[in-house]
Amino acid sequence: MMAASFNHKTLQKSGLMSSQQMAQLLVSDIDFVYPNGHVVFRNFSLHARSGEFVVLLGPSGCGKSTLLNLLSGFYQPTGGSVTVNGTPITPESPELGYVFQSSHLFPWLSALENVRFGLRMAKRMSTEEQRERARHYLALVGLEKAAEKLPHQLSGGMQQRVALARTLVMEPTLLLMDEPFAALDAISRTSMNDETLRIWSALGQTVVFITHDIDEAVFLADRVVVLGTAPSGIQSELHIELPRPRHQHETRKLPLFRDYCNALMDRVAAAMQAA
Ligand code: ADP
Repeated sequence: MMAASFNHKTLQKSGLMSSQQMAQLLVSDIDFVYPNGHVVFRNFSLHARSGEFVVLLGPSGCGKSTLLNLLSGFYQPTGGSVTVNGTPITPESPELGYVFQSSHLFPWLSALENVRFGLRMAKRMSTEEQRERARHYLALVGLEKAAEKLPHQLSGGMQQRVALARTLVMEPTLLLMDEPFAALDAISRTSMNDETLRIWSALGQTVVFITHDIDEAVFLADRVVVLGTAPSGIQSELHIELPRPRHQHETRKLPLFRDYCNALMDRVAAAMQAA
């Protein structure tokens, strides 16, 4: 696979990353009720410390998408607060970056121009500096050779890499990832999981990652938060103490990996039974 030689230090030296990578996410006692009266959260709290990789896992209907909308400031809680580094979150918070299931690339723009797009809109830096930064992030996701390609010339996995680079180029410190690899085939998906961890360990963001795939949750997470069916909130939490760096081939073979997966399977089943 690609072997981009970036790490935290080289990115800092190149000025591509702010020296202060801090994003503490705090969800305090939130309530959320849809206009039709459907209660999804009541006194719900969640904390992600700076640089933590938190995975939210739960059955369909437990409120994962609603929570993501609250974490990104698109929805306002009816009670309580959502803050990043002590400041209420809004969709414009500079700390935030999103990666969704669909890459949503502009089909008429090259990979490089798709990655540069946010910088262009924000009118940050000169055109040449924008291109340079976009090239760096394309290289980080292993696509330096595909810079001039249009989205339709790229595989689904490559398109998702471009989408990831497009988010990273804005240098978010809190990354919200909503089932970003769910539409990929199994091989692309496992390689994207490897890439995600490699990039995260280089850049050190706080990540909140939503999935309903138990193996993916265990492979990625520092901590898996199992949500119960709404409005039951957090059903349980599991700290994943598998050694890092993790790699698909080695990590998945560890007996401890299977133990975590089995434990989570039981917890998700319990969450569903409680519904
Ligand atoms: P998940 O993403 O985990 O599948 P959602 O956040 O989409 O769950 O939904 C949580 C609960 O809120 C579900 O019971 C769902 O039916 C309900 N819900 C979602 N959107 C709305 C809405 N716009 N109005 C009323 N209820 C909704």
